[in-house]
Amino acid sequence: MTAQEKRVPITVADGDGIGPEIMDATLRIITAAGARIDIEKIEIGEAVYKRGLDSGIEPSSWESLRRTQVFLKAPITTPQGGGFKSLNVTVRKTLGMYANVRPCASLHPFVSTKHPKMNIVIVRENEEDVYGGIEHRQTNQVAQCLKLISRPASKRIVRYAFEYARANKRKKVTCFTKDNIMKITDGLFHRTFEEIALEYPDIEHEHWIVDIGAAKLADTPEAFDVIVMPNLYGDILSDVAAQITGSVGLAGSANIGDHCSMFEAIHGSAPRRAGQNLANPSGLLHGALLMLVHIGQGDVAERVHNAWLSTIEDGLHTYDIYKDGVSKEKVGTREFADAVIARLGREPHVLPPARYAVGVEMDLSIRPGGEPPKKEHVGVDIFIDQRNGNPDEIAARAKSVATDGAKLVVIANRGSKVWPDGNPDTFWSDQWSLRFEGKPFSGQRVAELIAALSTAGFDVIKTEGLYTFDGERGYSLAQGQ
Ligand code: NAD
Repeated sequence: MTAQEKRVPITVADGDGIGPEIMDATLRIITAAGARIDIEKIEIGEAVYKRGLDSGIEPSSWESLRRTQVFLKAPITTPQGGGFKSLNVTVRKTLGMYANVRPCASLHPFVSTKHPKMNIVIVRENEEDVYGGIEHRQTNQVAQCLKLISRPASKRIVRYAFEYARANKRKKVTCFTKDNIMKITDGLFHRTFEEIALEYPDIEHEHWIVDIGAAKLADTPEAFDVIVMPNLYGDILSDVAAQITGSVGLAGSANIGDHCSMFEAIHGSAPRRAGQNLANPSGLLHGALLMLVHIGQGDVAERVHNAWLSTIEDGLHTYDIYKDGVSKEKVGTREFADAVIARLGREPHVLPPARYAVGVEMDLSIRPGGEPPKKEHVGVDIFIDQRNGNPDEIAARAKSVATDGAKLVVIANRGSKVWPDGNPDTFWSDQWSLRFEGKPFSGQRVAELIAALSTAGFDVIKTEGLYTFDGERGYSLAQGQ
C-alpha cells in the first residue's frame, strides 16, 4: 500500500444541536469522494457537561484523540450558567494546538459580498501573546496583562504559514504586527518572519503594521493571500475576514498542533434549527477540507471542494444563503449533501476551481537555532505603589539606597519618563518604576535594593531584570528617556 492509499484514523464528535445532522452530511460527502479515513466516534458537549464533567469531554476520549491525533468536531452547546469551561480552549491548550487556520473566500455572485475577488487564509498564533491570561492588579489604579512572545512559537507559526502557502500553491505570505510600538515582542515576531521568509524564495513576503494592514484587509482583501499574525490581532482579524466574505456561516477552521489537530466550523450549534433538516453543512465541510489537506489527502479535498462550488453555482442553497433571483432551489441538509455527492468530479464554471496539492507533506520541523546569545544582567526596574507621589521626592528618597554599582537612572510612570527633567503635564498614576543600572548587576544586588527600598518605606510591587543579549538592549527605554 502506498502512502497515498494509507487509511488514516480520525476521531469524530457529532456535537449538539445541528451538529449530528451536519456531521452526517459532511462524512457522507467526504466518504463518497474517496476519503481514506477510519472513523472513531467520541461524545462531547452538553450531555457530558450535564453528567458533571465541567470540561465537556470524558476522560476516556483523550485516549482516542492522542492516538488518532486528528479531530473532526461538530459544534456543541455550552449549557447556560457558570462553572463550565470552554471545550475548545481545553482541547486546544491540552493538546498544544499552536496554529489557527481560517480560509476566507467569497462566492460572488452566488453569495453577496463587497469583495468579489477575496480569497485569503488567516494563520493565527494560538497559544501565547496576551492569551496566557497572566494579569495582575498591582496598585489601586493600575492593572497589567503580560504579553509574551517567544522565539520558538514565532518560528513555528511563521514556518507553518509558509509551508501552508507552498503546499496550497499560494503565492504570498504577509505578516501583521505592531512593532513600531512593541519593538521587542512584536519585533521578535517580525524579525523571525523575515528570517524564515529567506528559506522560501519561491513565496513573496511582506510586512504591514497591523492598523493600516487591517484597514487594507477590510477595504481591499484581494491584495492579500496568506496572512500570519500573533494571537490577539489574529483573533480579531480572522472574524473580520470571515465576515466580509459575506458568508461567515460557511467558514471552517483548523487548530494545528505538533501532534494533534482539530477541524471544525466557525459557527455554533444553532439549537433552534436542530433536527429539522435545515442546517447548512458547508462550514463543517470546510473544516473537513482542511483536515483532508492536513492528512495528505489534498486530492479528495479538491474533488469535494469543486463539487461543493458546483452545487453553490447551480443555485442549490440551504435556507441561510437562499436568495430569490440568485438561488434556484431551497434544499435541506440531506438534499444539499446529496447534491454535492452527485457533482463529485465536476468543476465550477464561474467561481475559480479549488486546487490542492496532492500528497504534499509540510515540513514543520523546528530547525535548531545557532548558539544562544550572551546574556548580561545590567540593571533592574523596580515598581512601587505610591499614591499622590511626586517624582523629585521619590527620586530623592530612592537615591539614598542607590550605590556605585546600582545607580538610579530614570523614574517612569506608565512608561513615560517623569524624572529627571520630567514634563509637569505628564499624568502620574500610583505606579512608578525606578530604573537602577550598573555593570555587572546581579540577583543579589536586586535583593539588596528591594530590602533597602522597603526599609526606606517604599511599597515594592514587582521587579523586571534588565538584560542585554550579545550587547543588544533587551528592554525598552522610557518614553522621553
Ligand atoms: P450559532 O452560530 O449557533 O447561531 C447563530 C445564528 O446562525 C443562528 O441564527 C443560527 O440559526 C444560524 N446558524 C448557525 N449555523 C448555521 C448553519 N450551519 N446553518 C444554518 N444556520 C446556521 O451561535 P449562537 O446561537 O450564539 O450559539 C448557539 C450555541 O452554540 C451556544 O451554546 C454556543 O455556546 C455554541 N457555540 C459553539 C461553538 C463551537 O462548538 N465551536 C461555537 C460558537 C457557539
